Amino acid sequence: MTTTPNSLRAVDPELAELINAEETRQRDTLKLIASENYVSAAVLQATGTVLTNKYSEGYAGRRYYEGQQVIDQIETVAIDRAKAVFGTDHANVQPYSGSPANLAVYLATVNPGDTVMGMALPMGGHLTHGWSVSATGKWFNAVHYEVGKESGRVDMDQVRDLARKERPKLIFCGGTAIPRTIDFPAFAEIAREVGAVLVADIAHIAGLVAGGAHPSPVGHADIITTTTHKTLRGPRGAMILATEPYAKAIDKAVFPGLQGGPHNHTTAGIAVALHEAAQPEFSRYARQIVANAVTLAEELAGRGFELVSGGTDNHLILLDLTPKGVAGKPAAQALDRAGLETNYNTIPYDPRKPFDPSGLRLGTAALTSRGMGESEMREVARWMDEVVTALASGDEDTVEKAVSHVRGEVNEITGRFPVPGLDR
Ligand SMILES: *Cc1c(COP(=O)(O)O)cnc(C)c1O
Repeated sequence: MTTTPNSLRAVDPELAELINAEETRQRDTLKLIASENYVSAAVLQATGTVLTNKYSEGYAGRRYYEGQQVIDQIETVAIDRAKAVFGTDHANVQPYSGSPANLAVYLATVNPGDTVMGMALPMGGHLTHGWSVSATGKWFNAVHYEVGKESGRVDMDQVRDLARKERPKLIFCGGTAIPRTIDFPAFAEIAREVGAVLVADIAHIAGLVAGGAHPSPVGHADIITTTTHKTLRGPRGAMILATEPYAKAIDKAVFPGLQGGPHNHTTAGIAVALHEAAQPEFSRYARQIVANAVTLAEELAGRGFELVSGGTDNHLILLDLTPKGVAGKPAAQALDRAGLETNYNTIPYDPRKPFDPSGLRLGTAALTSRGMGESEMREVARWMDEVVTALASGDEDTVEKAVSHVRGEVNEITGRFPVPGLDR
């Protein structure tokens, strides 16, 4: 961070120092959190601009404030790029984040008390797919499908039976901890049969879909919601992609139904990320994310780790640490001290509590953004095994030794793979 008279460092050294510390932390750790990524320097630059100064309630050509000459163009570019990258009729780029985007879908399609269906949260679904602690679980009659106890995969027969019995008006597919390909055509067939609107929430896999590394829900789902900051590598935000019949209702639900002014600096960052996602390199990037996840999964399985569903088809791995003799939270904490950033996670049919579950969730998008490949994934698996095995020994000195050994090796590798947006 530079020091000029008006710079953050000069004006607010306390905050400048904290941001610097976070930059250092991000540079010096390996991010294996499946919902995170590192944005490019260009995306970072677009989000930190004067666009944050502007109010733009409404849509291009129909705003409630003057001075939209430039903002209208920026939002239109973002919309056009979203439609081109995903191949949809309509795009709304204003939702503040993934959760408000999903709320807008409810507002556009159902009424309070209506029956809605989604994947259960502990099975890998999202809070906003009608889970009880979420507004969506309180305001709607939500029913949930699960994954097979043995297979760890969504059982489409169970989804169909539940849909026939409950007749939901809205069906969500997608989630936060699904390591396997989502069968959009099968969901679409079920939704059609029971007369439900099908929403594909592709928050996690949007970058894979954009890069052709996961089948697209386009042509199957009526509405697609996604965050922009996970595999898609954009700023924190969201988009709703819709077929023509739902376009007007979605726009009305986002504004004025749910939100005020859009975050124009975010819109610009989304536009830049979509430009990047449209390049041929992005398809290589998306495929490398999956190749890295598959290698990491195989290496971990070879070291005695248990993988929910036995492996992965996408960027995400869900580990059941029970056979390793440790719980998810202490493992995540020890790994973090060793420079490997993960999150503890509930596994399907977890006998432990959500705040102290059996699982660990991993993702390879961020490491792939740093340019890492399959040989680095083998190292990561070896380091994870070293820390987790030490932890299982229950001996503090053994844990300390493993953590500091791995920390040293992580320091070496992070030096070789710069963080996009931070290092040249
Ligand atoms: C991350 C995520 C969301 C919510 O996104 P926020 O931006 O955190 O509100 C919604 N749905 C799914 C499937 C997600 O993975």
